[in-house]
Amino acid sequence: MLSNRIKKLPISATLEMASKARELKEKGIDVIGLSLGEPDFNTPDFIKNAAVNAINENYNSYTPVDGYDDLKESICKKFLRDNDILYEPNQIVVSTGAKQSIANAIQVLINPGDDVLLAAPYWVSYSAMVKLAEGNPIEICSDISSDFKITPKQLEGSITKKTKLLIINSPNNPSGTVYNEDEFFELSKVLEKYPNIFIISDEIYEHINYGIPHFSFGKIPSMYDRTITVNGLAKAFAMTGWRIGYIGAPTWIAKACTKMQGQITSGTNCIAQRATITALEAPVNSIDYMIKEFQSRRELILELLSEIKGIEVNNPMGAFYVFPDISYFFGKIIKKRKINTASDFAMLLLEKAHVATVTGDAFGSPKNIRISYAASKTDIRKAIKRIKGLLSV
Ligand code: PMP
Repeated sequence: MLSNRIKKLPISATLEMASKARELKEKGIDVIGLSLGEPDFNTPDFIKNAAVNAINENYNSYTPVDGYDDLKESICKKFLRDNDILYEPNQIVVSTGAKQSIANAIQVLINPGDDVLLAAPYWVSYSAMVKLAEGNPIEICSDISSDFKITPKQLEGSITKKTKLLIINSPNNPSGTVYNEDEFFELSKVLEKYPNIFIISDEIYEHINYGIPHFSFGKIPSMYDRTITVNGLAKAFAMTGWRIGYIGAPTWIAKACTKMQGQITSGTNCIAQRATITALEAPVNSIDYMIKEFQSRRELILELLSEIKGIEVNNPMGAFYVFPDISYFFGKIIKKRKINTASDFAMLLLEKAHVATVTGDAFGSPKNIRISYAASKTDIRKAIKRIKGLLSV
């Protein structure tokens, strides 16, 4: 018999959609996958070469649990250069993807029954991770009318004696929303009144930004001592499979994350760590070509979607997703199917237009679907044309 813990754990909605799309593909159906948050670029050559060198230099042993010292120093330099936050190497923990960084932080902070505030829409795994730690995920809802941003009033209204942690993510997956400096300061003013609340600031999409300067929550002086700043290599450097994430955090939290990781996975992959030093020390503009391409795909998909009646799109300023409100279609019958929920709608797109997207239900936004534009322009054009054809009948 499996444990109750695993029985209660939901399957990741994004992975579930990808596997349904794969099933159809295996049947010979030409499915266009716009469900995954994965850059379709190759890892830049200068990073690949650093990994090859590391292999040839015989980096093959177990690594320190929290990461190589020189890598932690590079991460400190990165935090200072890009985020204007001063961390010492003993505040850094390198993990197997930002996913593990976040899971560690939740495990070391959350006791059974603690409330964790999730600024919705939020990345699917946060709530599952909180439940694994026996905490209560509490959604603070927002929708397209507030550009998917939560307000200080909403934040204050959600805080109780049980609140231990707030998780925020900017640029945001799934909405593409980017909080600006003032908005974060306003939220921090509320949190200043509640010194026992910690913050996880997930900044994995930091560099995939189309205009609002990235602002790190931990840069706010009153928040520094209780913020865990999470980042990683997957998105900006097209390194999803290399599995490198990291945190900058108060020393006592970093130490606890190291303890946690030491019992579960140990230090992360040695080759990927060496290559990460090269990636982080390269000039930030070495990845500009990818960001420019994402931006141009963003313009394309926004333009194409604007031509479809009933699809209301936000203006995403970061990441590589659009998160349209599709509630116009609720109650309608399309291809003999009644659409009652965003899941019905995403399933309709998959089965009748052969386009894989993800339902907003999974992200705490039941009126939306997430469409990833980390795909070729040809696929984007083809996919939106199919969706338009399906919805215009
Ligand atoms: N946070 C967010 C918001 C993400 O979208 C993802 C990846 N989908 C992660 C964290 C995890 O990143 P990694 O691949 O480094 O584990």
